Amino acid sequence: MIQEIKCRRDISIEQLEYLLTTENKDCLEMLREEAVQTAQKIYGNQVFIRGLIEFTNYCKNDCYYCGIRRSNHCADRYRLTKEEILSCTDTGYKLGFRTFVLQGGEDPYFTDERICELVSEIRQKHPDCAITLSIGEKSKESYQRYFDAGADRYLLRHETANGTHYRRLHPDELSLEHRKQCLWDLKEIGYQVGCGFMVGSPGQTTETLYEDLQFIRKLMPHMVGIGPFIPQKDTPFAREPAGTMEQTLRLLSIIRLIHPHVLLPATTALGTIHPKGRELGIQSGANVVMPNLSPVDVRDKYKLYDNKICTGDEAAECRFCMENRMKSIGYQVVVSRGDYI
Ligand code: SAM
Repeated sequence: MIQEIKCRRDISIEQLEYLLTTENKDCLEMLREEAVQTAQKIYGNQVFIRGLIEFTNYCKNDCYYCGIRRSNHCADRYRLTKEEILSCTDTGYKLGFRTFVLQGGEDPYFTDERICELVSEIRQKHPDCAITLSIGEKSKESYQRYFDAGADRYLLRHETANGTHYRRLHPDELSLEHRKQCLWDLKEIGYQVGCGFMVGSPGQTTETLYEDLQFIRKLMPHMVGIGPFIPQKDTPFAREPAGTMEQTLRLLSIIRLIHPHVLLPATTALGTIHPKGRELGIQSGANVVMPNLSPVDVRDKYKLYDNKICTGDEAAECRFCMENRMKSIGYQVVVSRGDYI
């Protein structure tokens, strides 16, 4: 079955159901090994690092799962100045980062003009770096402006490809059609795009996951970000159970098999639910890690979910901690833009 999934680069709903529920250790080990071999054939034992800068936790949206949703009045809001963001990229550059990911809530303060100014300054200072934006749903025109200013990648998790499930996770003012359209627009403009979803989000089923995988096969993104859903205590989903590491690892392997070249991060959320989550993610077919470059005094405020790791560490500590973690499992962190092959 695993060979068939690998050859067809596709999975049936029955195969998915089996792989997500089986306790057959040999089968699970084979799934993991095939995924790792597939990643290694393309990317060797190299792991790409991206420097993550969480530059604002203001958000106009109200997604039920997210700790920085607008209705969370317990969130301690912050936004970094342009100078602070540039200082993060400078520090990151010295530490060997050649990709910066600027992530934030949908913060109206950061108008297109401000985003473009920021992107073009980073582009001028660091022409050899990739600039990734992850700032939510915008018009095609805005995406084009950021691209023209020098952004080359965009991360926008689709969250779920199923309409009913999407409604369970978001208020009526947001729509799955628009989110998907944004991804198509980004691709058409020429960005390297990343979609993705949380594993174990409330209402997720094998059927919705199957639709996620089919959406990935259709979109053929350059990146897929998946990590466990983790409840945040001040959101409507505070009492919902978290997604599990086991399901996340199985899905990482499956995604590697159906989309062999994809850039696949072992996420911070995975590291949050298990101390070796990111190492296990790489050992299940992931090939990217994203250490945090945000200033330490704001780290604790970008609380999408509870108990987030690495909130007290300086950028350099995160960078070298990650290098050692990867070394311990036989992988090498590489200093390069880490483009899709
Ligand atoms: N505003 C941008 C957007 O909408 O894409 C980027 C920021 S958003 C907070 C980044 C991602 O965090 C979301 O796509 C979502 O999948 C993830 N996230 C939010 N709340 C989470 C939670 N409770 N557990 C795990 N991941 C979460």
